[in-house]
Amino acid sequence: MNNKTVLVLAAHPDDVEILAAGTLSRLRKIGFEIFLGHMTFGDKGGIQDPALLSATRKEEAESSAALIGAKVVGRLCGDLELYNNDTFVEQVFEIIKEVKPDVILTHRTNDYHPDHRITGELVLRVVREKSFNTSVWFMDAIGGIDFIPTKYVDITRERELKDKMILCHESQMAWMSQARNTNMVYMAQSLDRWRGLQSGFKYAEGFMSLDGIEEDWFGSLLDAINLSHLTNKKG
Ligand SMILES: [Zn+2]
Repeated sequence: MNNKTVLVLAAHPDDVEILAAGTLSRLRKIGFEIFLGHMTFGDKGGIQDPALLSATRKEEAESSAALIGAKVVGRLCGDLELYNNDTFVEQVFEIIKEVKPDVILTHRTNDYHPDHRITGELVLRVVREKSFNTSVWFMDAIGGIDFIPTKYVDITRERELKDKMILCHESQMAWMSQARNTNMVYMAQSLDRWRGLQSGFKYAEGFMSLDGIEEDWFGSLLDAINLSHLTNKKG
């Protein structure tokens, strides 16, 4: 067990669940404190009144977070109102100062959605401009597009929990079905099966170390987590 802290800085409520919920559950089991940071309100993920949808999505995010004992932070602005500027750099810096994470998970800066890209850019600016000594790793991209993991985490035993966390986002389950003909649980299962195929697990989540920097203690820890499944049948 350890007393480390992981902060996920993602764009919208539900990104974290789709891309990293299984790994976060495993980190929680070995004693990590978990903070889920959503940059935006998620207020444009539907046709409802943005203020009402924002409130709904806050509740959904908190219900999901509760399933792994995580706290929700962030919620800085409306969807598509996030910019790579000094104001948001300072706001992200405030979150990091408050949480004091040992590792940050965020979006890669070539992601498909502008809010995802800007979230990643803001995190990198804070870490570089503020001389933060924090490990930074990238989560997978939605659909795995243009993302080649350098590390995989076996989440086979977290499948049920991960699906439950995604299902907490009822408004998005409905909206994605209606607007994109997509079932979010199936979408996540498909990505996890694909990453599993690449790594020899039934279901896996993929991560990438910070570009140009070798894998660090967190990469070693993810290796150890995978090994623990081989030696501990209840792990
Ligand atoms: Zn998103």
